[in-house]
Amino acid sequence: MRLLRSALLGSLLMVGAAVYAATPAFTPAVEAFGLGDVELLDSPFKQAMERNAEYLLSLDPDRLLHNTRKYAGLQPKGELYGGWESRGIAGHTLGHYLTALSQQYAATRDSRFKERIDYIIAEMAESQRAYGDGYVGALPPTELATLRGLKQGKVAVKDPFTFQDGAWVPWYTQHKVLAGLRDAWVLGESEQAKQVTLALANWVDDVTAGLTPEQQQTMLQVEHGGMREVLFDLYALTRDERYLKTAQRFEHRAILDPLLEGRDELPGKHANTQIPKVIGAARGYEVANQSEGRPIAENFWRTVVRNHSWAIGGNSDAEFFFAPETASEHLSAATAETCNTYNMLRLTERLFGWQPQVEYADFEERALYNHILASQEPKQGMFTYFMSLKPGHFKTYSTPHDSFWCCVGSGMENHTKYGAAIYFHATDALYVNLFIPSVLHWQERGLELRQQTRYPDENRTTLTVTKAPNSPLSLRVRVPAWASGEATLILTGKPVQANTRPGSYATVHRQWQSGDVLEVTIPMSVRTELLRGTTDQFAFVYGPVVLAGDLGPAPSGPTVPYTNEQTANLKADSVPVPTLARDPQQLAASLRRVPGGELAFKLTTHQPRKEITLRPFHELDYQRYTVYWTTVPTGQAE
Ligand SMILES: [Zn+2]
Repeated sequence: MRLLRSALLGSLLMVGAAVYAATPAFTPAVEAFGLGDVELLDSPFKQAMERNAEYLLSLDPDRLLHNTRKYAGLQPKGELYGGWESRGIAGHTLGHYLTALSQQYAATRDSRFKERIDYIIAEMAESQRAYGDGYVGALPPTELATLRGLKQGKVAVKDPFTFQDGAWVPWYTQHKVLAGLRDAWVLGESEQAKQVTLALANWVDDVTAGLTPEQQQTMLQVEHGGMREVLFDLYALTRDERYLKTAQRFEHRAILDPLLEGRDELPGKHANTQIPKVIGAARGYEVANQSEGRPIAENFWRTVVRNHSWAIGGNSDAEFFFAPETASEHLSAATAETCNTYNMLRLTERLFGWQPQVEYADFEERALYNHILASQEPKQGMFTYFMSLKPGHFKTYSTPHDSFWCCVGSGMENHTKYGAAIYFHATDALYVNLFIPSVLHWQERGLELRQQTRYPDENRTTLTVTKAPNSPLSLRVRVPAWASGEATLILTGKPVQANTRPGSYATVHRQWQSGDVLEVTIPMSVRTELLRGTTDQFAFVYGPVVLAGDLGPAPSGPTVPYTNEQTANLKADSVPVPTLARDPQQLAASLRRVPGGELAFKLTTHQPRKEITLRPFHELDYQRYTVYWTTVPTGQAE
């Protein structure tokens, strides 16, 4: 990473896990650190990362390359995997896999991941030569013919996911390949990946160059992933105008225009199709002076986070946005596709870079603990597709070799980058956004900071300066908006005077010394969050974590907990969930924390009367649960 960073032109802006050159016109307010600058210490996040790394290493690159070689006319070296890898969307996994390997390598410098990157890239380069026109990927013949046919102006759309000839989301799939190559180049430090990436991007330019603006808009009616974003990235990396022009052909006005005007036309639209278009607009603002990208991204983010999101930070039902006030009709087993949150977090990290507000960081935390961490199955590191919020239902996970859903692909990436959003920096300020045990190495400022905590099992974190910078620096610690009181800061035994109100940054500016210890305490209590559009349905939340009621073991069966089909358990019975009496806030105040270190509470229900344990949602892996509860009017309580 460091070698490549100095080799890239211009100032570099790192947001999340990716590296991009910033234009002189755009200066971020704060920047993320590289994955290699943040080392995770033991926590559920590090454990998830290690589990995921094992899964990445258990996969066979030759099997993931099967279709790439086959459709290039070369002999495959491994058997085709099952699930989506055997269907028209085949090949997306290889792209996600390259990104995941590259992020894991950037974070850990573990050579096993670098070897895989280099092997896959060499295989892809060979396939690219065999394809002959710059294309490389694993699109089946129908999908590839559709994209090649664009060159002859053939654009006919059947529905939001298919072209008239039956091609299933070919740009969506191809975007993953192009993004994986970009990451193998930039994060995986592969010079050969750079060549393969740019040759493929040239091919994208070639097949789309002749489309009229009307034909472009028709093409964009079919889901196309982050094509615009990745092409802007390539423009930022190379300053070659060709990629800028190609990026512009993926500007989907039907979605962007209402967002620019601040109108919520999202209900009824496929959620994960739209989020990457907004990230593309955000990148246009950053790298191509397209000012409209900023209000588009900010309006979208506010609308989705404030009006369309569940308590766990996810959104959608059966993959679609719906009218916010109808949320209670959508508490189904198909809520909260995991890819959506993967993409919302990528957007959130960009917006935080523009304007470091607590609200962005609060959402990052909410979605990270309650959806992303909750999406991994702890025995084999498998992945959720939907995150069922149907009361009395349970989680369903992928299988190692026969699922390969979109959410398996984005899921592989999720657990490689927990270090991405803990800290951010401006020239003279360090933002501590997440309370995840870690060591930060801020090379440019000569600061090394160690964060130790059992948060949120305990309500404090300790920041120790183990290497001090030469000049004064502000440490800005997030005080979440949900905090139940002002935070307390103790610096090496002495109270610090600072604004510690919930929803602000507590700032300590000083010449730091090695050995300085800042102890931060954030008051936490159980609170309730009403389900939008209702007055009697709500979730319990403690600090950053959503508490779910443990309703006993999930049913045993051939599709629980693992299944090849993401829809396998959607119609499975749920168990009845007891109602609650009394005012929810009174109930929250009456919960008793279980003695000992674990984070669990006892809840007494109304009908039937029972004692139920509430636990962090991310810990309920194999149980039936409920996140949302229904109260009966207080007058009916005994
Ligand atoms: Zn997905």
